[in-house]
Amino acid sequence: MTPAIAVKDLRYRYHDGKEALNGISFTVKEGECVGLIGPNGAGKSTILQHLNGILPETLGGNPSVTILGQAVSPATLPEIRRNVGLLFQDPDDQLFCPSVYEDVAFGPEQFGLPTSEIVERVSKALAQVGLLGFEKRSPHHLSGGEKQRVCLAGILACSPRVLALDEPTSDLDPRGKRELKNILKQITATKIIASHDLELVVTLCSRVIVVDAGIVVADGPTVQLLSDETFMLAHGLEKPHSLQHRHPHN
Ligand code: ADP
Repeated sequence: MTPAIAVKDLRYRYHDGKEALNGISFTVKEGECVGLIGPNGAGKSTILQHLNGILPETLGGNPSVTILGQAVSPATLPEIRRNVGLLFQDPDDQLFCPSVYEDVAFGPEQFGLPTSEIVERVSKALAQVGLLGFEKRSPHHLSGGEKQRVCLAGILACSPRVLALDEPTSDLDPRGKRELKNILKQITATKIIASHDLELVVTLCSRVIVVDAGIVVADGPTVQLLSDETFMLAHGLEKPHSLQHRHPHN
């Protein structure tokens, strides 16, 4: 079956000469939910930004990245962007309209859908994230968790088949984290989640890809990899609490 995401020997260097990705390869099947973990600076955000063609900036396309069988190229970019919804780490990078309704409607409006369908998509997406009734509110006057959910609604309103989430819980309090976790559980699209929140990863992802210094250092079952304390410490990570009593080979 065609994978939802196929990344083959992806390399990327930022303008200042920093090698961020040194040959990343992995595939994700449709419907899978995969965690992307690793220390700060490992390359997680850089990988996610390649999945919908934000990087490389040249728009020259990237034959190393294929989404649902389609290589990222200038010709495929509009469809790639429809298929891949990217949730940025900082909601303030994603919210720019005066009202929640307009922010969530922005994506579907780009598709040129009829107004009735846009209205329907916005309501459905706001209901999915538990924010019905927030339509007229200003996104900038919401709490961090609510802003994050508005961003997610904006992505869901575009019905992407692949969701790439960059640190979705980084600014949330424990309740916000719990709520977002429950929302993500209900979403059946293929998901790749970059996160330091390993409890979230253990709950949602049966598989993790571990990156360090721009390479994949492990790719396998979450519980097995995350219970390996020596391995986790070697890559600037910690064995999560919920797995404290697990041995890596059980
Ligand atoms: P992570 O998401 O795992 O923390 P990033 O993908 O953000 O890692 O960063 C990978 C590497 O690329 C790091 O060394 C980081 O300093 C560098 N980097 C990230 N963004 C930029 C940028 N805009 N310009 C230059 N270097 C960058």
